[in-house]
Amino acid sequence: MDSIRMLEVMLGIPGVHVCRTGEVDGEVRLWIETSVSAPRCLICDSPADADGRELTDLGEYSAMGQPVHLVWQRRRWRCSKTSCAVSFVEQGEEIATFQERSPHRGGDAL
Ligand SMILES: [Zn+2]
Repeated sequence: MDSIRMLEVMLGIPGVHVCRTGEVDGEVRLWIETSVSAPRCLICDSPADADGRELTDLGEYSAMGQPVHLVWQRRRWRCSKTSCAVSFVEQGEEIATFQERSPHRGGDAL
């Protein structure tokens, strides 16, 4: 098992991948993303196209006794229908569930 896969198992958030890891100011930081495929528009139910990412700071959690800082690379989508073209970000229920059950060590809540 490679180390990224091990981190994903440790976090245990269904469908969430660790994109990269790094150290920022002496703390371990993990950038995560969901495996969601293209969703439908919330307004008109047309297919939505990827429209970039935005970073959501999930704060610090414990993983095997070590503080890890999670940053969610949240997907932004835009409706493919030009008359609608509404833009929205993914919601990530699994991430919200993870936050509820995990000891939070500070940072911004969703
Ligand atoms: Zn739409």
